[in-house]
Amino acid sequence: GAKGEEGVYANVQVILRCRPPSKEELAARTQQVVRCDEAMRAVTLMQQVPGSKAAQQTRTYHFDKVFPHDTTQEKLYGSAIASIVEEVLEGFNCTIFAYGQTGTGKTHTMTGDITEELSAGAGVIPRAIHQIFGYLDSINSEYTVKCSYLELYNEEITDLLAVGADVPKVRIMEDRGGTALAGIEESIVKSSKEIFALLEQGSAKRRTAETLLNKQSSRSHSVFIVTVSVREVTPEGDEVIRVGKLYLVDLAGSENITRSGAVEQRAKEAGNINKSLLTLGRVITALVEGQGHVPYRDSKLTRLLRDSLGGKTKTCIIATIAPTVLCQEETLSTLDYAHRAK
Ligand code: ADP
Ligand code: MG
Repeated sequence: GAKGEEGVYANVQVILRCRPPSKEELAARTQQVVRCDEAMRAVTLMQQVPGSKAAQQTRTYHFDKVFPHDTTQEKLYGSAIASIVEEVLEGFNCTIFAYGQTGTGKTHTMTGDITEELSAGAGVIPRAIHQIFGYLDSINSEYTVKCSYLELYNEEITDLLAVGADVPKVRIMEDRGGTALAGIEESIVKSSKEIFALLEQGSAKRRTAETLLNKQSSRSHSVFIVTVSVREVTPEGDEVIRVGKLYLVDLAGSENITRSGAVEQRAKEAGNINKSLLTLGRVITALVEGQGHVPYRDSKLTRLLRDSLGGKTKTCIIATIAPTVLCQEETLSTLDYAHRAK
């Protein structure tokens, strides 16, 4: 979707990925209700009418790309993500999100298997690192790569790369439209080996926190940030530095957000309001509709991503869904949310 008025041009690509049924779902013969048509870029939900075994309602949604359950990590990356990473290498800021209900494949899509030699299971982040260093090693210019890895939970930011117990609070500061972070470990990495070590370290820390918190884990967002600066000398001898920043975001589970984009009453009562997830929806809507006021300031996540959402940036939302009837209500919410962003 590239609509919007002068100056508020939004470049948002929305893609959909359906995960395969799990072993348990297959064993229980759980009914499959999602049909993906890659060529038509369409996904159809065959919704069961409550109280009736036979009656079905079908709804079809279209997206920029639709990936059926047998889509490999390599295919998804090559056809939807590689061109965005190219923009980053040309000096633009870009953001890639995974949005969806817990258990639908956000982490599988964004991180997947982390090994320096890419395996079939490697997700978007390891592949992006590969592409970035592949490019940097092929050019004859000086470069710097910086990376940070954050977790946002309950409107508080934690540095996943910080070591030791006495970790300072992370604060966001805005300067001239850019975003700066105080109290954070921003590591300069010299090779893909180093950045892989940091990715592994931060992901392990997130997994540990997940195990400890268990239920609440799906309520945190993780943000992996890579900044690439390339120094070039023009034929006239002038020095130019191109800086591009890539935000890779594994969002909190989208359950509890209703189809109208509000919070379910019972979730509200339990205090399960994910301010950042709701605000992100409003910010993206404002951007694609070209609204004058974009409510970036209303949540930590949107403040953090401000310099990489809207304007000359590219945004890609990967909406993830599960194929079974048990998830159909959440699937419908995800399809609606993602569709509004188009
Ligand atoms: P989320 O992060 O959205 O909660 P996960 O990424 O943890 O979900 O995925 C839940 C389970 O489904 C994991 O065991 C994961 O390996 C598996 N899974 C998700 N997507 C796929 C896929 N496209 N292909 C194969 N397995 C998948
Ligand atoms: Mg996850």
